[in-house]
Amino acid sequence: MKLKKGDRVQVLSGKERGKTGEITRVLPETNRVIVKGVNVAKKHQRQTSTRLKGGIIDKDMPIHASNVAIVCSKDGATRIGYRIDDDGSKHRVCVHCGGSL
Ligand SMILES: [Zn+2]
Repeated sequence: MKLKKGDRVQVLSGKERGKTGEITRVLPETNRVIVKGVNVAKKHQRQTSTRLKGGIIDKDMPIHASNVAIVCSKDGATRIGYRIDDDGSKHRVCVHCGGSL
């Protein structure tokens, strides 16, 4: 999983194709991510004693990591590459412009 929380990504397939949003959660075990405002399901919530308000709530559903691409500020949707510095530290970069992601 190359993506991490806080990354800005674009959806590549499905009905929400073209939408961009920020990753609010990564689920490495299923290789999925939750993107804010993308793949929102309307959940009907029943009123309970602990939850006074019933009704419909929005819930962001996980989407597969292969269906999103990280967004570079210069290039738009791109792929993640890595740059290793002289000191051995590894950085994520845009494969197109080499800028840090
Ligand atoms: Zn770039």
